Amino acid sequence: MTDVLGVRIVPPRDRNSIRKDTYKLREIMGLKDDFYFPIMDFLEKIMTMVDPEFYVEPVEDEQLVGRMAETVPEQHLIRVRASVYDAACKGHPWARKIMAHEFGHYIYHDAEHLAYAYPDLGERIPKWFSPEYQAEVFAAELLAPVNLIRGMNPHAVAQKCGIPVSAARGQLNQAAHTKIGRKKKKRSGKRPDR
Ligand SMILES: [Zn+2]
Repeated sequence: MTDVLGVRIVPPRDRNSIRKDTYKLREIMGLKDDFYFPIMDFLEKIMTMVDPEFYVEPVEDEQLVGRMAETVPEQHLIRVRASVYDAACKGHPWARKIMAHEFGHYIYHDAEHLAYAYPDLGERIPKWFSPEYQAEVFAAELLAPVNLIRGMNPHAVAQKCGIPVSAARGQLNQAAHTKIGRKKKKRSGKRPDR
């Protein structure tokens, strides 16, 4: 992503539009009020019904040199190191996050939407054009929706949502930046006695 050359870009998506997608997905699944999103069950049971060609393929770790997972939307495939797959099935937060990240690539980033950009010297391509940014935001918003976690502490969020504490902190930060989050802050600032 930080390479000067060879930057991959996709049509822009900001956090709000990604948040709308993850909210809708949870709503359809009947999980909009649940903290824990069962990402592996979702991929292997629901996704395979929606898209019969879709599959998650665990492979020997050494087959994926330098990477934990890769997603090939054209082949309806998320390929993942066996160690990551097993950890995700067991509910390990770091592995769940990787699977949700890859799923973000799967739904947003087919070859039709991918382009190779040559950056203008001294300028930066806005992050919302970056597939990695979009997949990271997608994973965070899917696994820990801001409307559910607002006001909680990071460890409780990490535990209830099954995500790393660092990811919980990031999402809580985002929750504080929404309209409701800002209002809450303002209100509590006005009434220090409460
Ligand atoms: Zn990625």
